[in-house]
Amino acid sequence: MSQPPPIPNLTALGLAAERPLVLIDVDEVLGLFMQGFGDFVAQHGYEMRVERFALFQNIYPPGSDQHIDMETGRRLFDAFFATHCHEIEPAPGAIAALNRLHRHAEILILSNAPPQGEKLRAAWLAKHGMEHPLVLNSGPKGPIAKGLVAQTLHPTAFVDDLLPNLDSVAEHCPETATFQHVADLRLRPFAPRSDRHPRIDDWAELGEALEAAVRR
Ligand SMILES: [Mg+2]
Repeated sequence: MSQPPPIPNLTALGLAAERPLVLIDVDEVLGLFMQGFGDFVAQHGYEMRVERFALFQNIYPPGSDQHIDMETGRRLFDAFFATHCHEIEPAPGAIAALNRLHRHAEILILSNAPPQGEKLRAAWLAKHGMEHPLVLNSGPKGPIAKGLVAQTLHPTAFVDDLLPNLDSVAEHCPETATFQHVADLRLRPFAPRSDRHPRIDDWAELGEALEAAVRR
């Protein structure tokens, strides 16, 4: 049986509990993961073809019509986070939107990156002026989000590209406003959406929606 995730303390992370709180994902929200991972797998002799909303099923040996298996994909994924995850491009508009949003809310970066990516991911955030606390999670984000938003009486919001995370947060934290953002232009047509979570792929517009959600 899996243990519930330990819940970080907002104050210990340097966040003010008397301000609204926004929880934001990294891959395909703040950063162009598919693009960066595609460049990485290309260095290892594979091709990324974005043909569906999936990860390893979009990676092929050159010229092959058979995508790589899960084990190969996992190996590339783990190596990417250990060595290259600080090289991804920020999503267009994300940095400016975060800077504006920070005037009205505390920002916590909630990423499902594997543990070996923590240092490089934090360095990447700092390099791009997004010096907000980074918390790593694994699995659906509802349980940890519940523990985090329970520490503030102020409005809260959550952004992710993946519906399972958005649904999980909506179920565990019904008061938290949820928004879907898919940063990669190639992925957008394939990304499933849901009426439960506004889908806003433009960061300037998303920043305004987040601000409105936490200033209510
Ligand atoms: Mg993501």
